[in-house]
Amino acid sequence: MTSAPFAPTVETNPAARTDAEREAILASPGFGNHFTDHMFLAEWTPEQGWHDARVVPYGPLQLDPATAVLHYAQEIFEGLKAYAWADGSVRVFRAEENAARLQRSAHRLALPELPQDWFLGSVDALVAADRAWVPEGGETSLYLRPFMFASEAFLGVRPSQHVTYCVIASPAGAYFPGGVKPVSIWLSTQYSRAGAGGTGAAKCGGNYAASLLPQQEAAQHGCQQVAFLDSTEQRWIEELGGMNLYFVQSDGSIVTPELSGSILEGITRESILTIARDLGHDVVERRVSIDEWREGTADGTITEVFACGTAAVVTPVGVLKWDGGEAVAGDGEAGKITMDVRSALVDLQYGRAEDRHGWMRRIPG
Ligand SMILES: *Cc1c(COP(=O)(O)O)cnc(C)c1O
Repeated sequence: MTSAPFAPTVETNPAARTDAEREAILASPGFGNHFTDHMFLAEWTPEQGWHDARVVPYGPLQLDPATAVLHYAQEIFEGLKAYAWADGSVRVFRAEENAARLQRSAHRLALPELPQDWFLGSVDALVAADRAWVPEGGETSLYLRPFMFASEAFLGVRPSQHVTYCVIASPAGAYFPGGVKPVSIWLSTQYSRAGAGGTGAAKCGGNYAASLLPQQEAAQHGCQQVAFLDSTEQRWIEELGGMNLYFVQSDGSIVTPELSGSILEGITRESILTIARDLGHDVVERRVSIDEWREGTADGTITEVFACGTAAVVTPVGVLKWDGGEAVAGDGEAGKITMDVRSALVDLQYGRAEDRHGWMRRIPG
């Protein structure tokens, strides 16, 4: 069934926060703590396709206890940011890529694909309704979280015949308010986040559920993040729980693990392939073994390591720890090439550098 034309209704929140309440939140939003006054919703059924697009007051969803997502985790999500530019416009970074990835994730989870114009329209409609919630200044943004889940009340293992799509928005402060600091990483040798043929390349909540125990183990070893290897050989570096990895070589070239089918195709990762080339670096996608990481940092072939994703953009990696040892890239501080790549990307996102690749979509209105 083809979907209806995208034409959302808008119900303004009668209990919206006052200007003073909103400004108090925007003064120090943190990450993922506060939500705007509205949310976007749409429904899908086999008979009607996508329908009932609406902006409504932000609030709880009422779910039948038998709702399929609560039992079988048929759920996918996206994450992107809207930025307030100095010229008064609001821009989102590569939202078309998020639309395409949500479709790929939907395919893998046997969920219906959301048309691109519905995805972009949902982002436009919510950001326009909550324009006042886009923070200004510093590295702040409005984080957008589109997600889709099996909303049929039915205890049987088959794709849900009712699906709900929702977008919520959360003002985000600078990820590194005190300056960019390297993260420490624990190498998980007992657990994988994804296996061959599994859902590693789909952005689904289930992958995160699988990463929480190893993430706890990382914390017990004093590390902030966990690195996962491939599940077959326990040898090839995949990624962190929610960020992709890059390795800077002593000759200035940059290497990132090639997409293996179980690595999430990060849009920041993909953008850095281009940005680093623009900066004059050779960029290579290939397999990188854990031995190469350990030995390369020890003998100086690898000079910098960094992680990337929408939330933190680019994060230097300081130490890698495992049961019985550790490896430090360079002097353990943020490396020069890491910071150059970071600045190039952040300047583009905030409109301080020319948008050569047409990545910044203007929100209408
Ligand atoms: C979302 C995500 C990333 C980063 O993707 P971006 O599009 O750059 O934000 C990396 N790994 C995992 C597992 C993710 O879910």
